[in-house]
Parts: sequence; structure tokens; C-alpha cells
Amino acid sequence: MADGPRIYRPRERDAPAPDEEHSLDDLTAQLNPEQAAAALYGDGPLLIVAGAGTGKTRTLIYRVAHLLQRGVKPERILLLTFTRRAAHEMVTRAERLVGAVSGQVHGGTFHGTGNRLLRIFGQAAGLPRDFSIMDQADAVDLMGIARANLGYGKQEKRFPKKETLHYVYSRNVNTEIPVEDILGGELPQFTDYTDDVLRIFAEYTSRKHERNLVDYDDLLIFWWLMLEQSAPLAERIAGLYDHILVDEYQDTNVTQARILRGMCRTHQNISVVGDDAQSIYSFRGANVHNILDFPKQFPGTRLVTLEQNYRSTQPILEVTNTLISRAEERFTKNLWTSRAGGEAPWLVSARDEQQQTKFVVDRVLELHEEGTPLHEMAVLFRAAYMSADLEIELANRRVPFEKWGGLKFLEAAHVKDVLAFLRVIENPRDDVSWYRILMLMPGIGDSTARAAIAAMAEHGWEAHAFYDWAPPPRARDAHERLVALLRALNARASRNEAESLGTGVGAEIEAVRGLYDDILRERYDRPEARLADLEQLRVIAGGYPTRAAFLAAIALEPPQSTQDLAVGGDAEDDALVLSTAHSAKGKEWDTVFLIWAVDGYFPLARATADDAQLDEERRLMYVACTRPRNELYVSYPLNVYNTRRGADYSMDQLSRFVDRGVRAKMQRMVLADDGAAAPEPAAPPEQPPIDLRALLKSRFTK
Ligand code: ATP
Ligand code: MG
Repeated sequence: MADGPRIYRPRERDAPAPDEEHSLDDLTAQLNPEQAAAALYGDGPLLIVAGAGTGKTRTLIYRVAHLLQRGVKPERILLLTFTRRAAHEMVTRAERLVGAVSGQVHGGTFHGTGNRLLRIFGQAAGLPRDFSIMDQADAVDLMGIARANLGYGKQEKRFPKKETLHYVYSRNVNTEIPVEDILGGELPQFTDYTDDVLRIFAEYTSRKHERNLVDYDDLLIFWWLMLEQSAPLAERIAGLYDHILVDEYQDTNVTQARILRGMCRTHQNISVVGDDAQSIYSFRGANVHNILDFPKQFPGTRLVTLEQNYRSTQPILEVTNTLISRAEERFTKNLWTSRAGGEAPWLVSARDEQQQTKFVVDRVLELHEEGTPLHEMAVLFRAAYMSADLEIELANRRVPFEKWGGLKFLEAAHVKDVLAFLRVIENPRDDVSWYRILMLMPGIGDSTARAAIAAMAEHGWEAHAFYDWAPPPRARDAHERLVALLRALNARASRNEAESLGTGVGAEIEAVRGLYDDILRERYDRPEARLADLEQLRVIAGGYPTRAAFLAAIALEPPQSTQDLAVGGDAEDDALVLSTAHSAKGKEWDTVFLIWAVDGYFPLARATADDAQLDEERRLMYVACTRPRNELYVSYPLNVYNTRRGADYSMDQLSRFVDRGVRAKMQRMVLADDGAAAPEPAAPPEQPPIDLRALLKSRFTK
């Protein structure tokens, strides 16, 4: 493939035939024999371990359809996937295959299903029905409160920060590795503090209890405990489903595996599919051995492997097969396709980030001109911040895009601020949100905020407890303004409840903005974009029937994109997808751009010291490169003006994963100064050349 430099020129599209859906009658026309055998498999445990794009998800969809056709009641089937959207898509396709069915297959994420079951059965296990779900950031804040309350805030010596504590906590509850061993293995500087850390965890746990809060991990652990610790509850919960199916099983953790065993205590009708070479969530405790050990946990498992890829062209597969062949351990085999044609993927070197950005946007627009819809193209990157420059350029050139994964809209501080107001109306005992609100107000600092929260706790968190609280003089004005807003919101809420109107979440946000917009304007020099975010939040919230429904929806699964949230919004609007590699899992596009293929970016710098982490980075790049059907562009800037890693300027190396063997399967493109493609130099140097102008410029710019 590496037959000398080539200049990019647009060419004919050679997309595969669109995925037609027939009825189930002629299944063999739509599945290969191995897939069909799996889809039609009778009762009992079934495991499909197979590489990317081999039709695992498709087979699972057909299996659901087959079960329905066999007469299994839809509501007795549980389909677990990694995102709510994936579950929805799969269920819809399965139902379409069999025609109208009465009832609904239960599809969702593990966390979403845990939430649903806890609301129904939790009360019998001492968990009030109206618990609030904390997202990750809230959980970290609560850990900080627990830490400070036990007096660890003012330690002289280095002591684990709240984020670190939350990480260790979550790792401990998900993997059951003792805290002492986690500290010893990963954070040896803190091993002396094991007892203190355990005290903080106990405090964190009892605070969650007092406040009626549940974190993400609890949704799984409580579900499991109900199955494990109470025979009558287990019988009722497991009795809900006759068939359980799981996609992306390689990314489940030990708790999820146990839940599945508990759910299948009376029958063994469990089908799971996954690819060990795409296991990318070990930092959340996911354990690839879950999938490899499945036959041991479910004796009599039927194992199916698939090797034919239906997604990508052969030249793309040659690159991805080579990329993953370097991985240490793996089970799945090299992939092949019967699709003819296709061009070798491009390795694109840009002078700097701006040029990389310009190349991507130009090429996206060209392809769009040629007829590829924007949503059939994706730009992937290792970490969310790496798309900042691209986002700005896309906005400037009016190319619509949506962003998946990473720090999103809802994680932005100003959006969280507004949500905190809704949260305290919903659950007055939510002290994390109280603290957030109070700290926003001019004249209120840490100690005043704590005093106010203590006063409310003393008075049983009644609304009046805050109205009647006597603030110190400096905080009087702020208190007055907050009371006026909360009174208005509470009055509205009880009036609406009395008349059983919806709570009008959109209107509530508008009321909050009456107070908050000014705070925002004070805080930021350029508030316009943030104000626009809040406007969008109001519109999205207006689509939900109640405040509780809205808060639960956004806390449970941080949406992949803002469009995910819009209920019946204009989801078919064409938009380019920007996504972290993690969030691209399971998806496919016509054309994929992988940007920032630079050592220190992909793999991330922090992963380079550890072999296991490096292997996971490699699998992640494999996930990214196995997404395209027709075209793959891997790009890297040669020069980086950068304060992120401490240096103002650095020259970067191509990612170590794109090694000689991988490059041999690619075509090279060197972007010329005007952004157009230019032939590459005769022997591309391993080290990028020095750019004298850029070096000089870097002395004057940050
Ligand atoms: P990943 O590992 O990325 O999740 P996967 O194994 O789940 O991939 P699918 O997404 O199910 O793979 O399939 C990849 C593509 O191949 C889809 O467009 C799917 O419709 C198509 N496909 C799979 N099997 C067949 C088949 N037998 N005939 C035609 N198209 C197929
Ligand atoms: Mg899949």
C-alpha cells in the first residue's frame, strides 16, 4: 500500500448496500450460518466472542426478534446495553423485525435498570422510594464534605484529595480489592492513611444514608444485594424475566457479572456478546476476565465465534488487524471481509493543530458536497478537550455538530449551578446542592454556607428552616434574594401539585435564571455562550413531564449529547459527530477521522509508564479505527504550542501505536501550507523536522 506519496482527490463512493430489514421468515438471507445459529439458539447460556464489526449486536437484535416470534412475552425479556440510546435502537429494530408486538421489551443500561428495580423493590430493603441519584461530580463533592467533616481538610501533610478518595472508594466497591491493597498498589504515598480513608468512607456512606442519596455504584451494589441477601426479594426480582441479553459484555465489572448470575438463578437463559480486544473500561473496574470466564460461571455455555467483518473495507481491516496484533493477550482472531475495493487509510501529517483542524473541516465539507450526510462522519479523539479548536472552527464555519463523551454541556459549571436549584426543591436534604447554591451567592463563604446547612439539618430540612435562618450581616442580602426565589418555586410546585399539573420544569429554570444570570455575568468576561447553554437547558427541560423525571433522566446517564435529552426534539437534524473514542464504542460511520494520533495524546502521557494501561490505550485506538465503513483518516500535528504539558512549545511524535507495520498499510499525506495535500518528502523522518518560524513565534505566543 505504501507505494509512494499520493495527493488526495475526491473519488467515487463505494458504500455497502444499506442494511435492509426483512421479516424474520428468511433469516439466512440476513445472517451468516454462525450468526443464525446464535440467533436461533434455544434456551441456556450463550456466549458470542468476536471481533469488531462481525455482527454481534446485529445477532443479538435478531435473537430478541426470534424470542418474540417464539412467543416469549416482550416484557419478560431484558436487554442490557452500554447506553440508553443503544438499547432503544436495538429494541426498536427487533420489534420492527417481527411486526407489531403488544408490550415492550425492557431495554436499558445496568444503572438504569438498577434504578427502576430499586424504586420498585428497594422499600422492602429499607431504601425509601424517593431517593435522589448523585452523579459522579456530586459524589466527589460529598466525599469532600465527609473528608472535611472528620477534620482532614486542614492536614499539613499530603493527604488524598476528594477525587482520589472517591476513586479508591469506587474501585473498592466495584472490584472488592481491599482499600489497603489499592493504596499499596496504586497510591503508595498514602498507605499510612488506610484507617483514615476507611473512616472517611464510613462517613460518606452514612451521609448518603441520612440524605437519602444514592451514587452510581450503589445502583448496582444494592441491586446485587437484594438478589444475594434476601431470598424472597431475589425470587420476585429474578422472576421478572425469562431471558436476559447483554451487549458489550467485555466492559462489565464483577458486580454486574454477579447481578446476572442472581437474575438467572432459576433459568440459564442468558446471552452475552463482546470482544475482549475492545475492553476499554478497566479504570471503572470492568474486567475482561468476565467474558473469558463466562463458560465457567454458566456451565453448558454454547460458545460462538465470528470472524467475518461486515463493516469495513479490507484495507481498513489490514490496518486494524495489524494494530491489535501487537496486543499482549487476546482471544479474538484477525478479521476479514468479502467486500471488494476500498482505499488504504490515510496517515495525515499537519504542521500544527490549526492545520489539522482545517483539513478535517475542509474534507468533511467536501464529502458532504459529494453526498455523505454529516451524521455519517465522525471525528474521534482520545480525550474530550482535544476537540476544542475543532469545535470553534466548526462553529465559525457553521457546520452543525454534536459532541459525545467527555466534559459536556451538563457537566459545565453554570449548568450544574442551575440544576442545583431544582435539586433542592426536589430533595431539600440534598446538602451538596445547597452548598453549591450558597457558595454562588455574594457575601456567603464556606463557613456561612456550612452554618446555614447545619441550621436546616437541625430543623429537619423543612423549607422554613432556611427562610427563618438568621444570616450574618454580610450575607443578609444574598439570603433575602434566595428566600424570595425559593418561596416562589416552592409555591409554584405545591400549586401545580394540588392541581396535578406538571411541574413546568422549563418555567422553573426561567425563574432560577432571574437570579442566576446576573451571577453568571459577574463571573465570566464573556457570558454569551453560557447564557445560550442555559436557554438550551430550559428548552430541553420543558420536554419532561415532571422535575423528578427530568432530574432522574440527566443524573442517571449523562447524555451522550444534548440531542439525547431532547424529548421528541429534532433528532434527525444532520450533524457531524465529535466523540471521544470511548463513546464511539459499538457505532459505525461512513468516514472516520482520528485526530491527535500523537504520543502523549493517544496514548495519553499518563498511561505510558504502565504496560497494562498502554495495552488498554491500544485497544481504545483499535475501537476508534474499527468504526469506519469506507474511509479512515488518522492525523497528527507535528508542532504543538502547548502549555498543557508544562512546555510552551514541543515537537511531537506520531503515536507509538502507528508503528512501521501499521504505516506500511496506510497512504501518507503531508498537508501543504495552504492546507491542501502535498506529496510527502522522499523519506519521512521519524522525528518531525524543526520549524524555525514556529520556534521563533513560540517565544512571543502562549
Ligand atoms: P462492534 O464490535 O463494533 O460492536 P458488532 O460485532 O456488534 O461490532 P454490528 O454492529 O452488529 O457488529 O455489525 C457491523 C455492521 O455489519 C452492521 O452494519 C451490520 O448491520 C452489518 N452486518 C453484520 N452481519 C451482517 C450480515 N450477516 N449481513 C449483512 N450485514 C451484516
Ligand atoms: Mg456491537
